[in-house]
Amino acid sequence: MPGKSKNSLKKSLNYTNLLKTANILTIMKKILISGVKPTGRPHIGNYLGAMRQFVDLQHEYDTRIFVADFHALTSVQNKDELSQATLDVAMDYLAIGLDPEKMTIYKQSDVPEVTELTWVFNCLTTVPYLSRAHAFKDAEAKNKEINVGVFDYPILMAADILIHDANVVPVGLDQKQHIEIARDTAEKFNRIFGETFALPEPLILEETQTVPGTDGQKMSKSYNNTIPLFATNEEIKKAVMSIATDSLRPEEPKKTEGDTLYILHTLFTQGSDLEKIQDGYKNGGLGYKESKEILITHITNLITPLRERREEISKDVDLVKTILEKGGKKVESITHEKMEVVREKTGLK
Ligand code: AMP
Repeated sequence: MPGKSKNSLKKSLNYTNLLKTANILTIMKKILISGVKPTGRPHIGNYLGAMRQFVDLQHEYDTRIFVADFHALTSVQNKDELSQATLDVAMDYLAIGLDPEKMTIYKQSDVPEVTELTWVFNCLTTVPYLSRAHAFKDAEAKNKEINVGVFDYPILMAADILIHDANVVPVGLDQKQHIEIARDTAEKFNRIFGETFALPEPLILEETQTVPGTDGQKMSKSYNNTIPLFATNEEIKKAVMSIATDSLRPEEPKKTEGDTLYILHTLFTQGSDLEKIQDGYKNGGLGYKESKEILITHITNLITPLRERREEISKDVDLVKTILEKGGKKVESITHEKMEVVREKTGLK
């Protein structure tokens, strides 16, 4: 029927227009970039500090989230471990709710031009400047044998961000200095070769900027103090029960400031529920055992649906690989264009 085909043509034209509008809107959106290293399981510090922001902001920004496998090479030097961990982080991204139809997930090493840009930036960066980076100083203080990759990590990160002309980078507080280094590097390049790179801003959530681990230090994969993001109920219980407390009895008043257990409550409980906990601490009446049980329930409520989704996703590894490949191709065309500009401006072309 001619009428029908006209209608469906009209529909498809509208659809084309919609797609065009969607593309233009994507172009107009500010660019968000961030990534997680495929080294061990992510924890609730990664989630609350950074990853949840990726999900919350994915529609507002042109969002590009990568699996930082080049960065992981500084510590993971095993083929199977790195490729499995890379897929794992991609699955983690999907499980927390990143939508590859609306944003881009890719593997850092699918954009090898970041290493070319790192070299260009290396040549503008002095050794004393990079020696002031916290991560390097920490490693040095621990007398670790430091590879050049660890020393140069902030410059690779600057390249990751600047090659996209990213406007915002959601991260935890430990990464703030690295964003400052990226800004300094962009400014230096722009000064020497002319305006080229946008200056990125960190997005750091005040209340979750440094999530404490079960020992009260920053929750970190390297401190053995984490509550894994996709933990089983048993693992959550074990981790929370291991949080150190003093020996005050339930009826005795307890201080909330600096108390790891209480700080963790504030990240999972709001409003009147939190007030009740606070009251039980300040005026007594809430014992540490009961407090831990409440925290276990709240963490379990957050983690269970994420873990179940993660289990579903892990059944279709091919789909995860396809998502990474597609994302890599999409990003490569953008970064290729930017590198052409850099080659032109520096005289490499
Ligand atoms: P990484 O696993 O080191 O690649 O970290 C991934 C993201 O999680 C980065 O943005 C970190 O700043 C953030 N992050 C790591 N640990 C914590 C923590 N304990 N509290 C808040 N954010 C964190």
